[in-house]
Amino acid sequence: MKTIFERGAAGRRAFVAPPTEVPETPLAELIPEAARRRTPPRLPQVSEPEIVRHYVNLSKRNFDLDSGFYPLGSCTMKHNPRLHERVAALPGNAKLHPLQEPEASQGALELMWNLGEALAEIAGLPHVSLQPSAGSHGELAGLLLTRAYHEERGERRPKVLTPDTAHGTNPATVTMAGYEVVKVGTSAEGGVDLDDLRAKADAEVACLMLTNPNTLGLFDPNIEEIAAIVHGAGATLYYDGANLNAVMGVTRPGDMGFDIVHFNLHKTFTQPHGGGGPGSGPIAVSERIRPYLMNPRIRRREDGTFDLDPEGYEKSIGRLRGYQGNYGTFVRAYAYICSLGGDGLAEASETAVLNANYLKARLAEVAGERLPAAYERICGHEFCLSGAPMKRALGIATLDLAKRLLDHGYHPPTVYFPLLVEEALLFEPTETETKETLDAFVAAIAAILAEAEEDPEIARTAPHTTPVRRLDEAGAARRPVIRQLLEEDQ
Ligand SMILES: *Cc1c(COP(=O)(O)O)cnc(C)c1O
Repeated sequence: MKTIFERGAAGRRAFVAPPTEVPETPLAELIPEAARRRTPPRLPQVSEPEIVRHYVNLSKRNFDLDSGFYPLGSCTMKHNPRLHERVAALPGNAKLHPLQEPEASQGALELMWNLGEALAEIAGLPHVSLQPSAGSHGELAGLLLTRAYHEERGERRPKVLTPDTAHGTNPATVTMAGYEVVKVGTSAEGGVDLDDLRAKADAEVACLMLTNPNTLGLFDPNIEEIAAIVHGAGATLYYDGANLNAVMGVTRPGDMGFDIVHFNLHKTFTQPHGGGGPGSGPIAVSERIRPYLMNPRIRRREDGTFDLDPEGYEKSIGRLRGYQGNYGTFVRAYAYICSLGGDGLAEASETAVLNANYLKARLAEVAGERLPAAYERICGHEFCLSGAPMKRALGIATLDLAKRLLDHGYHPPTVYFPLLVEEALLFEPTETETKETLDAFVAAIAAILAEAEEDPEIARTAPHTTPVRRLDEAGAARRPVIRQLLEEDQ
């Protein structure tokens, strides 16, 4: 496919404005000679239909949630209601300037305040900052808050505990924040190994970062004991909220004993994500973490109006980003919460868990021998299977199955994560899929396994129908070509 620079012709334009009646200011008065470029920029010169077709065709070369089922474990690829897009596009939202005076942006401040209150209720923790731009950014905030908390007590605690099932961002954040990662093992039931935790939770530990349900989709029933061990050691307990879609309105991290929680608004609270739009990772914290929260704080004044309080939190760690956060995601998340209400959120989580358990049971029927569950338990909103028996019996690996699913029109589940399960496949169907979709997906997996009995080569060389075949993933990450150079530029 040609790049946009290789299309069009000199002088071709998409839109030409009528001549202006306003006298033009000479360029020399606007931009000093030294700052002016010598040669005009090489921009594409294309007609409007050429632009539209170019980008629409480009968009069709990737898989997206609007074209098919996307059970990518840990990512919560649920449908994004179009109502949210309408509300976010209202001029008062979409065209609001981030530097607008608080007096002229009362609606936006009120929306952010209300969203914070709703998130506090969902988390069971009273104080919220909307600043972080992603879950991983929320993790960084959480560890900076943890450090501020310990420093005030005159304590230096160099270590942070993460379970060996943790998402890669957890240990990465620990390292970025200047802490040392200490891994905690997983028990035979798929939860935190309590003996290992007791052995490692000492006066050197600043925090335990935990996902519950964890990345195997399993709720840890020992969570209160875990909280007691961690708090007994004087450390904080951090909740990676990426799996909140399993428990909204059913249980709350604050009630489980967590001190700090991040929300992935782009996962649980429906935003286009995965290359589709900006993320957002607000955090909620307990009373003891409150004094260190990020400034400025959104404040409701006595008379019911709102402003930004630059010195809201006495011992603040400061600012973590410009302005207030990704406002468009706040509008969508707030629209989602308001349109479902508390009971609706709980129903969304219950349906997500039901769909995951249904899909798990159906896959056990048709593929139980080849793709057994990593842990035989009722799961949360996602579940993990192992492709190791399939690989031994049929000679096709988890990666081959994933690639062959693309030919059937499905996005594959997450593969090779969590790391402790051999040939792992992590499925997260979400609540927005119908029974028919789940059944058709099960039939596709059964068909791929049956086909591999006859001829494993088809899966090994899949995908066969996509615009590109197997990519060099390591090469794409290490030597990305993000801009095609024009010949003259080389
Ligand atoms: C997605 C995810 C994260 C990171 O969140 P981002 O918003 O992508 O930064 C952290 N932990 C888990 C378990 C996740 O699934």
